[in-house]
Amino acid sequence: MIIDERLSTYIDSISWDIPKYLKEVEKAALADEVPIIRRSMQSLISFLLEMKKPNAVLEIGTAVGFSSMFMSEYVPEDTIIDTIEKVPARICDAKENFAKYPQGDKIRLLEGDAADILAALVREQKQYDFIFMDAAKGQYAAFLNPIYDLLQPGGLLVTDNVLQEGDIIESRYAIRRRDRTIHGRMRGFLYEMTHSEQWDSVILPVGDGALLSYKKTNVKQM
Ligand code: SAM
Repeated sequence: MIIDERLSTYIDSISWDIPKYLKEVEKAALADEVPIIRRSMQSLISFLLEMKKPNAVLEIGTAVGFSSMFMSEYVPEDTIIDTIEKVPARICDAKENFAKYPQGDKIRLLEGDAADILAALVREQKQYDFIFMDAAKGQYAAFLNPIYDLLQPGGLLVTDNVLQEGDIIESRYAIRRRDRTIHGRMRGFLYEMTHSEQWDSVILPVGDGALLSYKKTNVKQM
């Protein structure tokens, strides 16, 4: 929790409501310890989707499908959501959830490692105007080049979990040895996104830290 827990509970209590079916999926995911977007992140994403009205959405990190079903509630009727997942058990649960979900036909599950799938989507010259990145934190920087190619100029990239439960502000030596690589990579990723000619980014202390990045339309040629 990167903001005061009582404050977070208060905000959720006044602003949060989702369809009953999604509440059940959320409850089951939390009981199974599947990490899904927190309520504050849900509020931010639904707000951004309603404002942006994207034609095509890409998600990296489906888990059991909660966030893709959630996003499908807030996009225009004919918008398709592509979502990538590599873990077979999660793919299986997500398929089951999508099959039962009234708007499941708006969601296309792309099975496999995001590195391969993103490369394939670039080869197909796919274009999205909203991308949600919620996968392995250590890979965010590596996914950036294909994401840049897949996002239309003026498109929005939303990245979750960038403040790592607050650990991002700690010195490398205060971080458990096995987490130091991810910690360093995330710091590098945040620096790159906030000092870029190609992106305009803002870091928000929402959920576990959200990075909003807008793909600039007037990039200076080097
Ligand atoms: N977005 C989901 C939600 O809120 O309902 C939660 C996603 S969970 C935080 C991250 C998911 O990304 C995990 O299910 C994990 O298996 C998947 N993942 C991590 N690295 C991946 C990769 N390289 N390719 C595909 N999926 C990946």
